[in-house]
Amino acid sequence: MTDTAYDPDNIFAKILRGEIPAHRVYEDADTLAFMDVMPQGPGHTLVIPKAPARGLLDADPASLAALAASVQRVARAVKAAFEADGLTVFQFNEAAGGQTVFHLHVHVVPRFDGVPLQRHEGGMADPTVLAGHAERIRAALEV
Ligand code: AMP
Repeated sequence: MTDTAYDPDNIFAKILRGEIPAHRVYEDADTLAFMDVMPQGPGHTLVIPKAPARGLLDADPASLAALAASVQRVARAVKAAFEADGLTVFQFNEAAGGQTVFHLHVHVVPRFDGVPLQRHEGGMADPTVLAGHAERIRAALEV
């Protein structure tokens, strides 16, 4: 069993520090949401806590509570923005669990009847398209 420390140079920590860009959709004191650059469907959004944690197991419960509230808020906006029939919400822990970025994050993916989820890390999306999707979600958050 591996017991690995949090790496403050992971890519989501860099997004939180503003060192690399992201298509941001929501931010509050404890959480940030932005578009996944390799979406498994249009509108695929990630929600992360600002407090450092590799995953579910090492996160502070108060941070998890704030994350859950933001996931619900963002999920409602994503569903409305894309007029989705449903949502798939998922979270991976450690490489064995499918995790590739080791800062806790929750995926929110709009789903449509009869449309399968695209492959995880299938390919980079067009930044202009992602910017448009982020704008749609931000607009839905303001309603
Ligand atoms: P996982 O750790 O397997 O839950 O997935 C990490 C997710 O982060 C993948 O869906 C990637 O497409 C996504 N990702 C990786 N780098 C970035 C980035 N710079 N900005 C936004 N999403 C990213």
